[in-house]
Amino acid sequence: MKLTKFEHAEPQDAAARRGVRPVICYPVDSLAPPDLAAYRAARQGWRKVSEVVVPPRDARTFEVPAGCFFRIVSIDGPQVGDLNLWAAGDLNERFFSGKTRALHGTHLSTGDRLWSCLPYLRPMATITEDTLDWYGFDEFGGSVHDVIGTRCDPYTHKLLSGGEYHHCCHSNLTRALAGHAQRPAAEVEPAVHDVLNVFMCTGFTRDTGQYFMKASPVRPGDFLEFFAEIDLLGALSACPGGDCSAEHSSDTAACYPLLVEVYEPVAPPKGWTSPPRNSYSRDHGF
Ligand SMILES: [Zn+2]
Repeated sequence: MKLTKFEHAEPQDAAARRGVRPVICYPVDSLAPPDLAAYRAARQGWRKVSEVVVPPRDARTFEVPAGCFFRIVSIDGPQVGDLNLWAAGDLNERFFSGKTRALHGTHLSTGDRLWSCLPYLRPMATITEDTLDWYGFDEFGGSVHDVIGTRCDPYTHKLLSGGEYHHCCHSNLTRALAGHAQRPAAEVEPAVHDVLNVFMCTGFTRDTGQYFMKASPVRPGDFLEFFAEIDLLGALSACPGGDCSAEHSSDTAACYPLLVEVYEPVAPPKGWTSPPRNSYSRDHGF
């Protein structure tokens, strides 16, 4: 957190130093942009093959074969979802929110990709529609679907409040993954990772740079749609924070279920192939 009272006087050329124009760390111009028209054309005649309702303050897993779509849908009321993704059959390859943030920015929307961790670093999913794209950035610097938060968890809660709470997204995701893998929670817990905060409205305060949240603008009927670039195992937690307007890590907030729908197209998008793992040699200078 930045101090608002400074200990050191500004140098004479402070204005000039601050005035240096920023450069984008990771220009993505060299990446082939997703062919959204082809993805969307593939939705014509698609068939819903499965759906799962995620109960409030709980999580569920779902599987999406490469070449299929999935939607996260708001159904009964404003609700935020914490999304984890793994390569189906390999919990080591998981969503890398930090690098996704570095590549696409703090908040994701249509055309952005969800990248997997090192050494895989390939697109796991592409966002193909976002009914909240109209929100943009508000006057506080807030926006939706962030990759800046991590997920609410009982350890941070213990640290800050001293209490025990068992329905944080981290625990919900852990229980769901343990149930799916038929393995003890302690074994699968390390595979739970930083999330895409679906529908959550967040930003950083301009003065202190602190992470903030505010009531999500999501309403029933809104959805975020993804195309699975590889075979995926997903887990979604309906955050105990509900619309995250006040607090999380408690049973105080009004919470609603979320719906996950999986759609299979008649044929994959024209010209699409499932991306291979990153081709870096892994020599590392040895
Ligand atoms: Zn949460």
